[in-house]
Amino acid sequence: MAHLATSPPRTGLLVIQPLKRRRCAECHAGPLQMLVLEEGAPRCLDCADLGHLVFLPRGDTALTRRSREESALSAVVVRFNRRRSRYERQGVLVEEAGLARAEERCLADAEARRRRRVRDARRRERKDVRFAEAFAGEIGRLFPGCPADRAQAIAAHASARGSGRVGRSAAGRALSEGAVTSAVVASVRHMDTPYDQLLMSGVPRHEARRRIAAAVETTLRGWRAEVSGIG
Ligand SMILES: [Zn+2]
Repeated sequence: MAHLATSPPRTGLLVIQPLKRRRCAECHAGPLQMLVLEEGAPRCLDCADLGHLVFLPRGDTALTRRSREESALSAVVVRFNRRRSRYERQGVLVEEAGLARAEERCLADAEARRRRRVRDARRRERKDVRFAEAFAGEIGRLFPGCPADRAQAIAAHASARGSGRVGRSAAGRALSEGAVTSAVVASVRHMDTPYDQLLMSGVPRHEARRRIAAAVETTLRGWRAEVSGIG
């Protein structure tokens, strides 16, 4: 069993990173960083006609697969792991031109992914803009007296809170009368009343809301009223 485990795997061209100092049985170069076993005898990469290949360490699966696809000649590099009693892949030897072509393909993929991210971001932006327009439209319908720039600011704020991520039904819920009204109320509270100052001076939230309730209602009543002179 031990000698089975210490035999290197026999798939394709195999190059071994030896644990011991080994010399080439043919040209006696060494000690060898990598060798090929031919009938049990170590050969250096030059004697094995693999000297022109470059080493690509393991780690980048796509680059490894493509480098081998792009190389007429390639080899798997293994090293024996004593603790685990097995050979483990360290990388591959591939043609330099093949590696370069593989790198170009991977870069092209990265560029394609980058372009897709840009397209997705633009789509989300367009969705946000449409949502903000619909939201501003609802504000205008419910509060015709609300200044247009105020309505747009409230809608932009609501849209920035993640409309791009809400689905169709969630967007519909976000445009319900209740949701639109509470966005407008929140804006009036912070912009048209001393609510924030009250909070900052330590007034409890419910007490602060009670104190400004009348002012909020007055503003909303004014905005709900039909704009005079129209219709
Ligand atoms: Zn040699």
